[in-house]
Amino acid sequence: MKIFKLDNKGKYNWNMVIILTLIPLIGVFGTAIYVYYNGVVWQEPLMLFVFWFLSGMGITMGYHRLFAHKAYKTNVFVEWLLMIFGSMALENTILKWCSDHRVHHTKAETKEDPYSITEGFWHAHIGWIVKNVPEEHSRVRGVKDLTNKSAIKFQNKYYFPIGIIVGFLIPLAIGFIYGRPIGAFLWAGFLRLAIVHHATFFINSMCHYIGRRTYDFKSTARDSWFVSWFTFGEGYHNYHHKFQWDYRNGVKWFAYDPSKWIIKGLSFFGITYDLKKVNEHVIVQNRVNNIKTQLSEMFNKSGDGIRNYYKNKVEKLHVKSENLFVLWSEMEQKYAEQLSKGKLKNKEIVRNLISERKRYKEQLNSIKHDLQMIMSNVQKKRMHPNLA
Ligand SMILES: [Zn+2]
Ligand SMILES: [Zn+2]
Repeated sequence: MKIFKLDNKGKYNWNMVIILTLIPLIGVFGTAIYVYYNGVVWQEPLMLFVFWFLSGMGITMGYHRLFAHKAYKTNVFVEWLLMIFGSMALENTILKWCSDHRVHHTKAETKEDPYSITEGFWHAHIGWIVKNVPEEHSRVRGVKDLTNKSAIKFQNKYYFPIGIIVGFLIPLAIGFIYGRPIGAFLWAGFLRLAIVHHATFFINSMCHYIGRRTYDFKSTARDSWFVSWFTFGEGYHNYHHKFQWDYRNGVKWFAYDPSKWIIKGLSFFGITYDLKKVNEHVIVQNRVNNIKTQLSEMFNKSGDGIRNYYKNKVEKLHVKSENLFVLWSEMEQKYAEQLSKGKLKNKEIVRNLISERKRYKEQLNSIKHDLQMIMSNVQKKRMHPNLA
């Protein structure tokens, strides 16, 4: 007798549907009912936060930036820690997660992208996990570089027990200590897991849906400071898709990206090293070029009048910016050579370098501003005398 078709051959993987429905239901309503009858003690929100932080960092700092993108290096001990914390998030093994994620980057917006936004918000958010996918799409690939790591080998054998023990049984045990095991189990286990899951899912859905496309307007990935607030800095997704191996997602110093701050902070103690980061002049060049490409697409659609009106101005700005890119890049090279030669006078060299960078940045920012003004005028089909 078949009540439920749990053979997982249909459109949906019903085991996953049930699990991913129960976790938030128990997490939200179970915790709410528990609070209604038993109130809240300070240990529970604190444990929610600590376990959320650890499992979240396991995913962002570990699964994502360390293992999938190799944006920095660290020692085996930290690899193990991040593996254990990441397992608590119950988002599959590092190998499977990285395999899916690397394909998401290389095949973004195609049928091969496991969580392609082109198949809709729902599919990108959670649909891709609860649906059955063809064997060739679910296979682990492109992660040979990771298979020899001891933490990963261990996780391949014991992923599920680690996730359950650290993510559920340890909170339960702590709950026994302060006399409310069920409270701890609900807050730090189920509610925490529901938050971690959907926060990660929002990067695949919301960050391919709402937000700015400052670095690549042709990509569906978008920068969302809002999503960053609950994903430990992973919301700056347009930048991330453009420069995926950068250890930062929020590239501006003030951008909320705790993963970036922790990776950088640990580097001062030598715990993390070889942090990869895109040079500032490349980022600025990319931003200006992104506007130029957008503008030329707009000109293709606009009437001749608008195009002719702004053509010369845009051409002049283009030439000016190209020259500045070349000069800036040469300047960087010159300083890099000087710095590599010796430590004497290095402080002075660095000071000069910073002020030169500032000068180039200001000039390019003014070009960027003019291009943006033109873009806004073209959008409004307006001919602005000051810019022509
Ligand atoms: Zn993405
Ligand atoms: Zn990524």
